Amino acid sequence: RERFLGSVAELDAVVPVSHRVADRFAAVERAAAGRFENTPDTDPAVADNRAWVSALLARAPGTTLGQSALAAARMDSESQLDAVLKDGATAGQAWGALAGAERGRVLHRVGDVLEAHRADLIEIMVAEGGKTVDQADPEVSEAIDFAHYYAELASELDQIPGARFVPAGVTLVTPPWNFPVAIPTGSALAALAAGSAVVFKPAPVTARCGAVIAEALWEAGIPRDVLQLVDVGERELGRQLISHPMVDRVILTGAYETAELFRSFRPDLPLLAETSGKNAIIVTPSADLDAAVKDVVASAFGHAGQKCSAASLVVLVGSVASSSRFRSQLLDAVSSLVVGRPEDPTTRMGPLVETPGPKLLEGLTALGPGERWLVQPRRLDDAGTLWSPGVRDGVARGSAFHRIEYFGPILGIMTAATLDEAIELVNDVDYGLTSGLHSLDGIEIGRWLDRIEAGNLYVNRGITGAIVRRQPFGGWKKSAVGPGAKAGGPNYLLGLGTWEADGATA
Ligand code: GLU
Repeated sequence: RERFLGSVAELDAVVPVSHRVADRFAAVERAAAGRFENTPDTDPAVADNRAWVSALLARAPGTTLGQSALAAARMDSESQLDAVLKDGATAGQAWGALAGAERGRVLHRVGDVLEAHRADLIEIMVAEGGKTVDQADPEVSEAIDFAHYYAELASELDQIPGARFVPAGVTLVTPPWNFPVAIPTGSALAALAAGSAVVFKPAPVTARCGAVIAEALWEAGIPRDVLQLVDVGERELGRQLISHPMVDRVILTGAYETAELFRSFRPDLPLLAETSGKNAIIVTPSADLDAAVKDVVASAFGHAGQKCSAASLVVLVGSVASSSRFRSQLLDAVSSLVVGRPEDPTTRMGPLVETPGPKLLEGLTALGPGERWLVQPRRLDDAGTLWSPGVRDGVARGSAFHRIEYFGPILGIMTAATLDEAIELVNDVDYGLTSGLHSLDGIEIGRWLDRIEAGNLYVNRGITGAIVRRQPFGGWKKSAVGPGAKAGGPNYLLGLGTWEADGATA
């Protein structure tokens, strides 16, 4: 579901020529997609792959990857920022003037170079981002998918009769730390495919991941002034960058509050943001409960719950709520998750990227009225980043845990008498990012699909791990700010420029 397609008025504002251009683009996209295949993850059943993983895990603790590129990207003054943006504007003119197919060729090379650097990318994600290999490896695949998919779309942008695509101009990419490879790569490549120059400011906690990506993009042939890496440590300088008048677009993935903060810096900021979520999986009596438990655990505790797509609530319906079977299986599954350092191959859930702030700490330690621990989280190290996963039962409608995003390894159980009541509970939050249903009843599935308010819907599957083109990713309600087109989907590039009538071919 895409807000972008929700109203012709919105679409007309983005595509001034005619919304028929978008229909035409969708047809062209289907042709492009015929040439696109998703990249496979590394198969751990192959012995060579396991040896390859052991070697990169052994390197991770002492890794120096990204260090020198990051040091060179350090910004200390406003005049340095001015120079970066001026260079970007000039270089972007030439880049945007290339045929889309030419930019597409460079992006395909980016995909190949990222594949060649898969081990490096995983190594730095483990070392800096605290990711386990099973979480980091698919992230590299997703980054590669973005490269090849947007490469195909870039080639097609030139082929809309009567319309000319005009890139937005210098695009600032401000990604989060939780997907430090896939999200910045996808955002930067979308803007580059659309014909804009990019200024890439990685999240401070995972800045070296950003530097490794930038090096790969340069190696593949993206000119250094078309993609510039900036490390803006100091907060005031960050504000100056975001509010800088030479920034033509900002792509943000982060908390809703961060989008609001950016807007407070510059009210007319042209922002494309994917923001917070408070996501639930509903389990009905018709569900395969074994599969539901497995998917709930993976969605809630993958990367220690630090995903905006993560399951934070599970809503048990009818007899699933009143009998003990689901809860006891969930208890067993959650208590047996191996928590540890990401370099340890036996680890199933790694650390938090930082010690929990006040909100997450409250989520990990304080129960609301009527709640009890099914599994109580425990702090496992002195640093305070390693926590065992938690499950709280008895979460009440309208309580803090029902509505607030905690962004950590903590899941709440709610109950509902009927599927309709469950849908109401899930919709009764400000956000609408991912949502899941476990049910083997076609009528229930149809009813849920019709009424649930979220951008990304998953039936009988976990609710994290969107897949480029197959399951583009974007939010509804307060989970998106801006056009609301989905990353990895056919309309994403259209938010990164405007259409002009092209007199010559009209
Ligand atoms: N695209 C990711 C997923 O589908 C989530 C992105 C995020 O957490 O910011 O799991």
